[in-house]
Amino acid sequence: MSTARVSASLHSLPHALHSFQEVVTGLEDRMPAVFLDYDGTLTPIADHPDLAELSEPVRDTLRRLARLSWTGIISGRDLDNIRGLVQVDGLIYAGSHGFDLLIPGHGRIEPHPPSPVLDRVEQELRTLLQAFPGVHLERKRHSLAVHYRQALPRDLDAVQAGVERVLALHQGLRHFGGKKVIEIQPNLEWDKGQALLYILDLLPAWKGRGAPIYIGDDTTDEHAFAVLPLPGAGICVSEEERTTRAAYRLNTPREVHLFLEKLLRWLEGNGPSG
Ligand SMILES: [Mg+2]
Repeated sequence: MSTARVSASLHSLPHALHSFQEVVTGLEDRMPAVFLDYDGTLTPIADHPDLAELSEPVRDTLRRLARLSWTGIISGRDLDNIRGLVQVDGLIYAGSHGFDLLIPGHGRIEPHPPSPVLDRVEQELRTLLQAFPGVHLERKRHSLAVHYRQALPRDLDAVQAGVERVLALHQGLRHFGGKKVIEIQPNLEWDKGQALLYILDLLPAWKGRGAPIYIGDDTTDEHAFAVLPLPGAGICVSEEERTTRAAYRLNTPREVHLFLEKLLRWLEGNGPSG
């Protein structure tokens, strides 16, 4: 069952560490499956995507968590890239905002084939973006990302306008903003939320027995919060005030790690009785 959650002010939400008992009570004695975004959720946002490395203690926590419950990473990064950064076996991995999945027992699944339009747009953007120092175009299997965290402030408007000019010449793509990034994807009704529902459907003996916990920090994670089946818990990671469809909040990746450790201790101790 999914529910259309309403947006709320982040700062009005209960803190998932301080209200930990409420979070696990809300799972209604079902076994949690834990889904996590990567950048800004498991690691602090870095100046360049290559620099966002997972710390060894967090990796160890994921490893232990994966032995006790379904655990997945749902990222905007390419599947191979996110697997290489996390390096934990037995996890569910979803790359490219859920366009590219690796699910234990099912192997690699692409719910939609890669769009050939991306190749043409990539070439045109490479030419365009040469003029802007600090702007980095990332080609992913199912999307393109224009990273402008290190761009000159005076170039930002021209970068945005240039990207929109290129995209206006091609059909079948959409773009949206993230944290200092413009994401360009196939214009399909597919996002982290649809990918999450697709994955949950494939998990053995899931229906009626599991409860998803989804933790993420960015606008693309709102798609998952919006469709998260209940019982379950959406947790938004942000220090800054915003609106969110999550039910709980955490401030930082450090607090996400503390929450996962607390969840582990709960699973190792009482856990769900059902
Ligand atoms: Mg993120």
